[in-house]
Amino acid sequence: MREIFIAGAGPAGTAAAISGRLEGSLVRSVDRTRTARHKVCGEFLSPGTREILEQLSVWDQVAALGARPIRRCALNLANGTKRWTLPECGWGLSRLELDRLLLNQAVTLGAAVERGTVFDLAGQASGAVVVACGRKPSRAEDDRLFGFKAHFEGPGDDAVELFFDARGYVGVSGIEGGVTNVCGIARESTLRQLGFDFDEIVRRSAPLAERLRPLERRMRWLVAGPLAFSPPGSGTRSGAVYEAGDSLSFVDPFTGSGIMNALLTGRLAGQAAARGTSPEQYRRKCRSLLGVPFLISSMLRRLAAHAEWHHGARYLPGRLLFEWTRANMGRA
Ligand SMILES: Cc1cc2nc3c(=O)[nH]c(=O)nc-3n(C[C@H](O)[C@H](O)[C@H](O)COP(=O)(O)OP(=O)(O)OC[C@H]3O[C@@H](n4cnc5c(N)ncnc54)[C@H](O)[C@@H]3O)c2cc1C
Repeated sequence: MREIFIAGAGPAGTAAAISGRLEGSLVRSVDRTRTARHKVCGEFLSPGTREILEQLSVWDQVAALGARPIRRCALNLANGTKRWTLPECGWGLSRLELDRLLLNQAVTLGAAVERGTVFDLAGQASGAVVVACGRKPSRAEDDRLFGFKAHFEGPGDDAVELFFDARGYVGVSGIEGGVTNVCGIARESTLRQLGFDFDEIVRRSAPLAERLRPLERRMRWLVAGPLAFSPPGSGTRSGAVYEAGDSLSFVDPFTGSGIMNALLTGRLAGQAAARGTSPEQYRRKCRSLLGVPFLISSMLRRLAAHAEWHHGARYLPGRLLFEWTRANMGRA
């Protein structure tokens, strides 16, 4: 029986643990945190996520937790709002619940999990290792990017709304229990200028302030960063090491596809490690799934910083923008 060691118990690591167990491997998994916690994340589950959660046999639990259906998308640009209906339903579920239920499923299937243990690749014994420790540290020193998020209470709807301006963007969408997630990205210079006062930052945009007016914040703002985007398969690890999720590639969060990519690559990494597929073959597969969406979303992120682009963006079909920025699930 093959043995797989998994570092990280976010969506990528737990998907790897579940699929490793479903393939009949012995799975040992560690996470540096002692308990599941809230994470800086828009908590929007892109439409293809349901299929992967079904393959991992957890979709019924996600539905039972009251994941909120998200059917519409609205892009608030410099010169107005572009709206469309999503090709398939997406979902909103807090990371606290999602990460917890995925880990429970891995344990139920027989994975041995240690919390409060920090992984160090250098000290790792031989054998297959899935590295799913989240984003790689940013080396940027100038005007770094940070993410922030809080939960709000008040009237909700079935749309994921993105508010873009030159300073960054903020996403607003519903999760379970009638809660609304407000999560954004901004440059350090902007955050410093506004004294890291996130309430002030969201009030700066008139349409966003209007959207949040009936809502009340019910948790403190969480911050994460600095953030660095990385293309799929750019890692240089040697040996039987399979990087998954953000450790493999970190795509701009405005796509709302990071969790889906983490589940997808985690599942593939668990299978590859269990079947003895070479890490290079695994990385090739990941590049073929995520390479083009990564390039397109990087391009869109650069364009979004220019107000002139917002005029052109209004004429691009929303469904195409959505499809171009996510993995082709048919190829998975
Ligand atoms: C601002 C923002 C908004 C986002 N919004 C969305 C969204 O709406 N929809 C979406 O799909 N995606 C979104 N994302 C992306 C999404 O959050 C990530 O893609 C996803 O969390 C990746 O999962 P992961 O398992 O790779 O990493 P993580 O969720 O980061 O999990 C990594 C785990 O590894 C553990 N760990 C780290 N280092 C070690 C170590 N050395 N030893 C042991 N354990 C370790 C951590 O404790 C953690 O539990 C957003 C990201 C940001 C920053």
